[in-house]
Amino acid sequence: MKLFTHSIFTHRRIIFIFLVAILLPSLVAAYLSLSTFPKRREAVRKLLESNLYISGEAALNAVERALLEIEQKVLKSENFTRLLLSQKAGQPDFDSSRFSEDTVGQPFLLDADFKIVFPETVPENASGIDFIKGMRNSQFTQSFQRAEFLEFAQKDITQAANLYKKCTSYTLSEQLRAVALEGLGRCLLSSEKYDEAAKVYNDLSKNYGQLQNKAGHPYGIIAEFQLYEIAHKKREGENSLVILLNLYQQIRKGIWLISQPVYDFYISEIESILNDRLVIDKFPEIQKSYIEVQKRPSPYGQILLFKDFLERSVIPEIKEKLSLSRSGNTATQERFPGTVQDDLFLVSYAIIPDFQPERTFYGGFKWDLNLLKNSIIPKILEDLSEDSGLDFKFVNEEDQNIISGIDGLKTGESLVLSFRMFPLPWKLLVSHPGIKALERSARREIFFYGFLLAVIVALMLFGAVMIARDISREAETNRLKTEFVNNISHELKTPLTLIRLYGETLQRKENLTSTEKKECYEIITKESERLSHLINNVLDFSRIEMGRKEFDLKKGRLQDVITDTLESYRYHLEKKGFVIQSDIASDLPEINFDGEAIASVLINLLSNAMKFSPKQKEVTVKLFMDNGNVILQVSDLGIGISQKEIPKIFERFYQSENHDASEAKGSGLGLTLVKHIIEAHGGTIDVESEIDKGSRFIVRIPLC
Ligand code: ADP
Repeated sequence: MKLFTHSIFTHRRIIFIFLVAILLPSLVAAYLSLSTFPKRREAVRKLLESNLYISGEAALNAVERALLEIEQKVLKSENFTRLLLSQKAGQPDFDSSRFSEDTVGQPFLLDADFKIVFPETVPENASGIDFIKGMRNSQFTQSFQRAEFLEFAQKDITQAANLYKKCTSYTLSEQLRAVALEGLGRCLLSSEKYDEAAKVYNDLSKNYGQLQNKAGHPYGIIAEFQLYEIAHKKREGENSLVILLNLYQQIRKGIWLISQPVYDFYISEIESILNDRLVIDKFPEIQKSYIEVQKRPSPYGQILLFKDFLERSVIPEIKEKLSLSRSGNTATQERFPGTVQDDLFLVSYAIIPDFQPERTFYGGFKWDLNLLKNSIIPKILEDLSEDSGLDFKFVNEEDQNIISGIDGLKTGESLVLSFRMFPLPWKLLVSHPGIKALERSARREIFFYGFLLAVIVALMLFGAVMIARDISREAETNRLKTEFVNNISHELKTPLTLIRLYGETLQRKENLTSTEKKECYEIITKESERLSHLINNVLDFSRIEMGRKEFDLKKGRLQDVITDTLESYRYHLEKKGFVIQSDIASDLPEINFDGEAIASVLINLLSNAMKFSPKQKEVTVKLFMDNGNVILQVSDLGIGISQKEIPKIFERFYQSENHDASEAKGSGLGLTLVKHIIEAHGGTIDVESEIDKGSRFIVRIPLC
């Protein structure tokens, strides 16, 4: 007993040591290592963020440096010299792509009085100053004034025409010859001399096209317009429209430098004629080219708009900036942003050095912001992004990508930096694609290690539970074994005492009657039978335990073995006052069984029924076929078994606590043996029982 309690104690101590020495430290270690994950992640994140800041700053600097370089390149004086030279050669180049190598916007040039030098729209000598000067007191003047008088006051067109013609021969100046030709053409047209008039207007258009009349209209436009009139009058429908469409195209191209009102006047005049006439006279070819021309933007129209923009938004700003920094009259580049009808613009300008000696010029350009955001900046960012592995995007004030208009990334994962030198309202958004991936992998790592930890803890706990269960089982078996030894000694002692008592009686008392002697012999026989039954059980059990029990299965009539065993036990039962009912089917088929083992099954069941039926002494034995099984039923009306106990009664050494009602203690091995034997026959054993009503043991043995 002492040894046994000691062993339990030792096991508990092992569990305790296991918990304290292994489980607890592992849990603490796991917790500590798991808790370092967020810290590690945070450290890496901080590192990346600082890297983000440094790389972001470097990227922004690189972008600004690149833009400044472009600006510097564009604002070189040779670019402006080239512009002016082309303008002086009479071919002003409105296409700014030829202004400098990098097309970044529309250039402009202002003189010291902030007059627009480029793009030129109205030539300086366009007014009629020369014309008035040349007209004073000359032969030309007299003839010209006379001609005008004849034409307008006298309505003598023929005479007027002759005089105008005479005027053209006075080769005073181109301007005067042009004005005379204009008069001549007019008179010829009025007198319907169309061919002659056309000749005059062709001459005027070809040789004096760029000169302007008193009202500031170039002779080229006037002449072409009259040529259209002539063709129209001569009913040359298609030809007249071609002339007009050509004129329309040329005005839009900027062949003549005219003011905005003159441009607007001719454009709307020609458009209204073309719109009307193309509806009536259907010339699909002309209509098609007219639509084509209208679709394309008008280069000169744009120049006029640009000039207007310069006058309204740029020149006042430059003036103000210069007046604020008088000392800043240096050649450094300046820039400012603004908006025109909600459209953002950026203008860069500088004093152009060495442009013309002793004269100040301001050169500048309006950035093409679409080009900047769609091509220039992305190109710079692409290189930067390749070098640093970071993502760069420019966002506007509403945090939208300036190119795609999609919302930028949320702050926290990225860094926003504003321009330092470039006054653009755009911000550089720097983000690290690795930060998100890092968070994802950290989350995965924690999940993985957490899961691993949970599995380890679960396994450890499972192990602890298994050990504890084994220990308690062991303890229970030990308790049962001890009880078994006590019971078996008691069970052995009772029959042995009786055998000795009756043996001594036979020996000592010589005058016993034959009936008394018979009784003594019977008792000795029965008690020794009981003894051998007990010892058989114990021996069988120990054979089973050691795995040495073998069954001798032979084909035979089970009903015979059951009947014989019952008959041999009947006396014993009836003597104890039991009524035995039996119903044994005699027509059962032969089956394989071990006769001795099956007899022992029945004896054990009968012996239990007898032991646990103190009041209602009635036992029923039935043997029959059911569903391919041979069924052996042993029922009693005894004390019954509680539902809680039923699963335990087949365990070895198990004996009910509630044995007050039973007369004798058993070994706790009977049902263990029965179950083992039945299972060796491929069968099963069940029990139905109710407290104080009795029990029924049902044995099923399959036919094959
Ligand atoms: P025992 O030698 O104690 O009879 P068994 O293994 O045969 O050992 O039975 C185990 C326990 O099952 C018994 O102690 C008893 O509590 C219960 N038991 C068995 N048969 C009956 C029965 N017919 N009626 C009531 N209880 C029974």
